[in-house]
Amino acid sequence: MSGIKGKSGVYKKTEEHKRKIGEANSGHIHSRETRIKMSLIKLTENPSYIAMHVWVKKHKGRPEKCSICGKLNKKRGQVHWANKDHKYARNLEDYVAMCPKCHKKWDMEHGFTKQ
Ligand SMILES: [Zn+2]
Repeated sequence: MSGIKGKSGVYKKTEEHKRKIGEANSGHIHSRETRIKMSLIKLTENPSYIAMHVWVKKHKGRPEKCSICGKLNKKRGQVHWANKDHKYARNLEDYVAMCPKCHKKWDMEHGFTKQ
């Protein structure tokens, strides 16, 4: 056994590095807890959005491919159901399978995305 020395992956903490960590811990930057709270607010702001996705999936199943560019939904999340008019009405015909790229384009073209 001859120990290989070299790439140990250990960081040497410089004085500046230590100072930065100190600043981060002193409350000037959002704490982990705050960040979690903020992401929760984002989710709870629009509960119908989550409920809608569950409901659409239940009735329409997993989208097979993007109805615009034809991208196949090979991996999870590559294509999802998008609401055409953002009203999230319980009308299955209002939901189209779109990949994130086409969804973004759709939203921009229809004025749903703030630019
Ligand atoms: Zn697409």
